[in-house]
Amino acid sequence: MRTIIHRRNVAVNAIIVFLITSLLILPGYTLAGTPSTSLNGTPHKPAYIENIEDLIDVQVVPRPSPVCPLSPTTTDVNIIELLQQLNETLILGYLENLTSFGPRETGTEACDQAAHYLYDTFNDMGLAVRYHNYTDDRVSGSNIEATLYGSDSTNIFIICGHYDSVLAGPGADDDGSGVAAVLAAAEIMRKYEFGHTVRFVAFSGEEQGLIGSRHYAEDAYNNNDPIVAVLNADMIGFAPSGSDGIKGKIFENTASEWIVDYTQDISQLYAEYIGIQLFPQGESGGSDHYYFWEYGYDAVFYHEYNFNDYYHSANDTIAHMNITYSTRFSRLILATLAEMAQQPRPVLEITSISGGLGITAQITNIGDSDAIDVNATIGITGGLFGFINITATTSVPLLETQGAVPLKAKFFRLGRITITVIADASNTDQVTKQATGFVFGPFVLRVTGIP
Ligand SMILES: [Zn+2]
Repeated sequence: MRTIIHRRNVAVNAIIVFLITSLLILPGYTLAGTPSTSLNGTPHKPAYIENIEDLIDVQVVPRPSPVCPLSPTTTDVNIIELLQQLNETLILGYLENLTSFGPRETGTEACDQAAHYLYDTFNDMGLAVRYHNYTDDRVSGSNIEATLYGSDSTNIFIICGHYDSVLAGPGADDDGSGVAAVLAAAEIMRKYEFGHTVRFVAFSGEEQGLIGSRHYAEDAYNNNDPIVAVLNADMIGFAPSGSDGIKGKIFENTASEWIVDYTQDISQLYAEYIGIQLFPQGESGGSDHYYFWEYGYDAVFYHEYNFNDYYHSANDTIAHMNITYSTRFSRLILATLAEMAQQPRPVLEITSISGGLGITAQITNIGDSDAIDVNATIGITGGLFGFINITATTSVPLLETQGAVPLKAKFFRLGRITITVIADASNTDQVTKQATGFVFGPFVLRVTGIP
């Protein structure tokens, strides 16, 4: 009798085990029910926003963005050396510190404590840190920005995540995982010198509708910041099964597809140290990259492959994360950022505009790689009765580092003139310089640059 009962229990247990196992290996959200409304393609979205229409509609005049690097070319900094320093201990340490404050809803004391912790941590790394404060109808708060200045360029590359969470939970994965990646990248990269400037940014107000990042992108736009790429990490630490742990998602708009290609090249180049294959997903309004798009910057959103079952709950804890996966994903973003930040770029400069017999301008490549398909134009306007409207152009297929190309305009006129010189290349940013002068017959006199 006993034996029979025992056998029945074994059978029942076996069925239960089978059912649970099936649930665990089924893709999707079988354990936690269906995810809430998506903002274009991802279940991840600001907690207190229902539809993408509820986000502020930004209307700005698009500006030419800095020319992007096309594919990784390793130079001075050894990426593998950087990757080896990004280990699970580092990620886990930052996660424990961040979650120790409790739920970090923007406007709460815990969120402020996390902000101070981030400020102090970046400061201790020797980086230039500032609070970027914002005031908004929905919520006011601070983003924390740390800068590692480039040695020979003003181009900016950003890595970011949001340090606020919902009130319901400690936000270990959402988005402690992204902020841990930002901190780890800062801690490692600060020991090296990069050609371009890198900003490490932790946003708040994300859950209220991407408020912190919206104000940050708006200020960057108004400040003419030459941001080349924004790498936003939000929820990169959930992978319950081994097969989830080798895959990741990336969200991009058309202009940012080059960042997808670039990251995929990196994941192949350093596959041995990263081990994550990326799957492009298209556009999404669900995280802090969104307003960078709205302000015309190129940005992507990195995200775990299998959406977190404990999203926006008290169970979004470190215990439910996969730290190995989080570390790998952080490595992928670090390698992408570091490679971009050291990539040599041509930089054009209009080194002189002078008079004499006509006008002569000189365009020099002061960057550290060849400029391809350089075009330069002199435009002359003004003169007596405003009759002068002359242009002269030149182009060269290649301009080496420190190489210069002269450009001449000859004419026969009279009166005050304005001279505009414009130069660009297929792989670098356009430059413009203006000057004034006086033309008397074939001679141009008193040429003075307009600052
Ligand atoms: Zn998030």
